[in-house]
Amino acid sequence: MRIGIAGAGVLGRLLAWRLSRAGHAVTVFDPAAGPAAPAIGQLGAAVPHAAGFTAAGMLSPVAELDNAGPEIARLGWRSLALWREVADALCADGCTDPLFAQNGSLMVAHGADLGAARRVLARLETAPTLAAELPAPQVLDRSALAALEPALAPGVHAWLLPEEAQVMSREMLTALAVHAPLVEWCWGERVTSVESGVLHVADEGPVDFDLVIDVRGVNLTHPRAAFGVTPSRGHLQRPGEAGSAQALDGDMAVRGVRGEVIWLHAPGVKLQRPVRLLHPRHRVYIVPRPGDLFVVGASEIESEDRSPVSLRSAVELMAAAHSVIPELAEARIVHMEANLRPALPDNEPLTHSEPGLLRINGLFRHGWLLAPALVEDAVAQMEAVSRAPEDPHPNPLPQAGEGVSRHRTTLATEGTSLPRPSWERAGVRGTPEQALESQQNH
Ligand SMILES: Cc1cc2nc3c(=O)[nH]c(=O)nc-3n(C[C@H](O)[C@H](O)[C@H](O)COP(=O)(O)OP(=O)(O)OC[C@H]3O[C@@H](n4cnc5c(N)ncnc54)[C@H](O)[C@@H]3O)c2cc1C
Repeated sequence: MRIGIAGAGVLGRLLAWRLSRAGHAVTVFDPAAGPAAPAIGQLGAAVPHAAGFTAAGMLSPVAELDNAGPEIARLGWRSLALWREVADALCADGCTDPLFAQNGSLMVAHGADLGAARRVLARLETAPTLAAELPAPQVLDRSALAALEPALAPGVHAWLLPEEAQVMSREMLTALAVHAPLVEWCWGERVTSVESGVLHVADEGPVDFDLVIDVRGVNLTHPRAAFGVTPSRGHLQRPGEAGSAQALDGDMAVRGVRGEVIWLHAPGVKLQRPVRLLHPRHRVYIVPRPGDLFVVGASEIESEDRSPVSLRSAVELMAAAHSVIPELAEARIVHMEANLRPALPDNEPLTHSEPGLLRINGLFRHGWLLAPALVEDAVAQMEAVSRAPEDPHPNPLPQAGEGVSRHRTTLATEGTSLPRPSWERAGVRGTPEQALESQQNH
């Protein structure tokens, strides 16, 4: 099948990688200049890029119960094993970067905020089937905490959340693109609108596919407060003002929710696993990265402002991190970044499908946590339907009434036949075999 994907963020790259390995001819469009992560080291934002690059990559289904339901935790738990498989496959293909680590995570709280930790644990206990599926949090006393993570302040209350994990978000995004050579990556190309079987590409026009997938997150087509500039009009817009509330052309009212992270360099500070601090104002985490780096995040602000990190967020996040790991006092601030999480009104993910079109969006603050399970469900549905022998016109997407999986899914009514494939477009490959042949000939 020829599949066109709008957006090369977490979902777009994972889908492209996965679908091309399954033998589909995949083309991806994204306005980014290329597959690599944006530069580190500037104390401000670079050009707009996927939220997935900014994310710390925490895979923490239990700690997310702080602000999400059991279904998110369940999907997240499934995703942990899937990320491990993806990382193993990429390593087998020659990727040498660390992509995934699974040492559990820590949930910590200062005495005054103990209620918040108890609330998370109670949410787990009151979802009995979930509690049976996930490994139980282990309370750590002072000596157990000192043995496990000596850098942590001795007075904090702590729980080990076994088997929770982290993805090295920048390296994983890059690897998914670099190790998917059969995918046609169309960088610097923006999709202006999407309809069944057709992607409308800026400066190029409509491009036909058997199936199109819209995973543009906070869609950059619409005017948004980006670096104080409204792209469609070109005049200055004050930081903090919201852009368009209707992000997607279609029926998904996606909004951006601002999140800010700080990168610290602290040689000598040892941390084996991500730490989540239950804090009265922020959901603060400290995530160790290779090279003595620590990502401290993240604010959550109802604004579509992508301008640089505010003083208030920076002070609060770093003070919170320092209160948990006092040795961070001498850390150097090497990078700050702000980006927008794609969110729907209920802050839950949504998969919408109709013949010739699939949209997945609204991954909000759990995109890394949820993406593999959502992708696996979407691909399984596509494969199940395309295998049905009695159907003379196999539909690559589920029919009405099918495929309502654990996450929210909407299905349009049947009846629309798939658009005729267009073979004319230069660069759109036929079969994967033809693609491979053409690559080998260059
Ligand atoms: C500060 C911060 C911290 C986070 N931390 C975590 C975390 O620890 N764990 C976790 O699970 N999640 C985290 N997230 C959330 C996670 O990053 C998002 O949920 C996830 O990136 C959403 O994936 P996506 O593919 O839908 O969108 P994105 O990753 O944003 O990708 C969307 C892609 O679409 C492209 N695009 C946009 N417009 C167009 C267009 N018109 N045409 C073509 N392409 C277009 C963009 O360039 C981009 O590449 C965090 C997010 C932020 C901002």
